Amino acid sequence: MPGPVNRIERAAVDGWWHGLGARLCPPRCLACGEAAPPGTDLCPACTAALPWNVPACPRCAVPLPGASSPAPSCGACQRRPPPLDATHAAFAYRTPLDRLLPRFKFHRDLAAGRLLADAMASCFVALPRPDALLPVPLHPGRLRRRGYDQALELARPLARTLRLPLLDGALVRTRATAPQSELDAASRRRNLREAFTVRDGTRLPAHVVLVDDVMTTGATLHAAAVTLRRAGVTRVEAWVCARVP
Ligand SMILES: [Zn+2]
Ligand SMILES: [Zn+2]
Repeated sequence: MPGPVNRIERAAVDGWWHGLGARLCPPRCLACGEAAPPGTDLCPACTAALPWNVPACPRCAVPLPGASSPAPSCGACQRRPPPLDATHAAFAYRTPLDRLLPRFKFHRDLAAGRLLADAMASCFVALPRPDALLPVPLHPGRLRRRGYDQALELARPLARTLRLPLLDGALVRTRATAPQSELDAASRRRNLREAFTVRDGTRLPAHVVLVDDVMTTGATLHAAAVTLRRAGVTRVEAWVCARVP
């Protein structure tokens, strides 16, 4: 289903300047550092190893190896349907995503961000079109410390490529929550209760897609989805770059 990531070519934008740069320093694979073909960001081995997330549960995007396509909902979603109507992840969070995503998230590697956003666009272009994309916001305190909002930096090029409205700032993180990675699943849910609110005066459309970089348990996305439903959104989905299996 997904198109090849190596169609992310820089030639048209960068022109002669890129040609000069390519001669001075030949392109390196963003994932492994080996030589990459001119005009691409990944070497052929890493391109072939990309863990596209199919087949997967349509509600929570958990990978379901060996399932038919389209896959049925996983057992957990059948027993307890989540507040998201659908979740799509471009990749399973495995090598080389464990190198590419941190490069983008913590080191602001724009080439890695462009590659990941383009992969998301190629995966999601054929899905039913929502009325708007809505990046999952960081708490302002964390944004100040990190200086970089990775969900917004993925949602912006995605909205541009797919020609969808971007509702940046419609959803507000109201509580500074403890870093999710330090908590178990039950504590994560407690940690996120009432963590979001809709900005006063915002009119939300009927069908919204939340955008985030990584989905682990889904607790953050679920908390955001519950807030949007309370505000009157009738269909809430999530599009993420990578799903932790
Ligand atoms: Zn490589
Ligand atoms: Zn599921």
